Amino acid sequence: MEHVYRADLHCHSTFSDGMFSPEEIVLLAKKKQCDVVVLTDHDTFSGFFELQASAERENIFPLTGIEISTVFEELSVHLLGYSFNPSSPSFLAYEKRARESRKARAGKILDKLRSSGIDITEEELLSQDGQHGSLGRPHIARLLVKKQYVRTVYEGFEKYLGDFRSAYVPSERMPLDQAIEFIHQAGGVAVLAHPHLYRNKKRVLDILDRFSFDGIESFYCRFEKRENNFWSTLAQQRKLLSTGGSDFHGEGRNEDLYGSSQAPEETTRFLSDLMIKNR
Ligand code: AMP
Ligand code: FE
Ligand code: FE
Ligand code: ZN
Repeated sequence: MEHVYRADLHCHSTFSDGMFSPEEIVLLAKKKQCDVVVLTDHDTFSGFFELQASAERENIFPLTGIEISTVFEELSVHLLGYSFNPSSPSFLAYEKRARESRKARAGKILDKLRSSGIDITEEELLSQDGQHGSLGRPHIARLLVKKQYVRTVYEGFEKYLGDFRSAYVPSERMPLDQAIEFIHQAGGVAVLAHPHLYRNKKRVLDILDRFSFDGIESFYCRFEKRENNFWSTLAQQRKLLSTGGSDFHGEGRNEDLYGSSQAPEETTRFLSDLMIKNR
């Protein structure tokens, strides 16, 4: 197939809080006529190796990717990294630490739930289907549903898990500058994820000024064209890449969202060329 550089650059798999395995994501990408595929799991890129194996079989080009939970002056900032070298020792060490810290945090959340009379054990959490990566609140929310404490994942967040609710425990977040540095050291590009989601636009512009971002996730599926255009124009003015994706989690095993927002072709081409250099 001729390369057309079609890709959804924001996607979660079973290596974090997504519902589809890396292999299933590859098949989904193929079904949606994408020829480049990437996982941006929360705080881990360990799904890449499975992704790569399946992508080769299906003749799709895989990129490395990650979505790192970072913090700057108390503000949570999600940082996307792309096309970095997946064997970078410092990056691998960071990832292992993050995974352990997320596991410890999940234990603390379960303790808090227990004091509200909710009984979920660590064994139940760890034996959930496909759980071999980065543990997050969605995994606990899904168990709350399964054990009929709440009706929906959303209700689980509203009642217990959401920010500053009764069982809220923040995840450990890396300082933003350090996370950007990690990605750069591994040869990748650092992109500000979904700038649309911040209430204070001025704050986002300030962050873009202060740190050495390489790109902005201008095209985010939950937003209208006008809003996306604002960010892509800004990216152009600042000579930054514009990326795009759907933030696919596959909730309810629904495939529809995948590919509904995509990166501009020239961005995907650039990231593919960089990946060839770094792998
Ligand atoms: P964590 O990284 O463990 O703090 O979990 C954050 C993840 O939870 C996000 O990436 C979303 O996938 C999910 N999430 C956050 N808020 C909600 C909500 N209100 N309803 C459903 N899912 C949510
Ligand atoms: Fe998520
Ligand atoms: Fe995010
Ligand atoms: Zn995401």
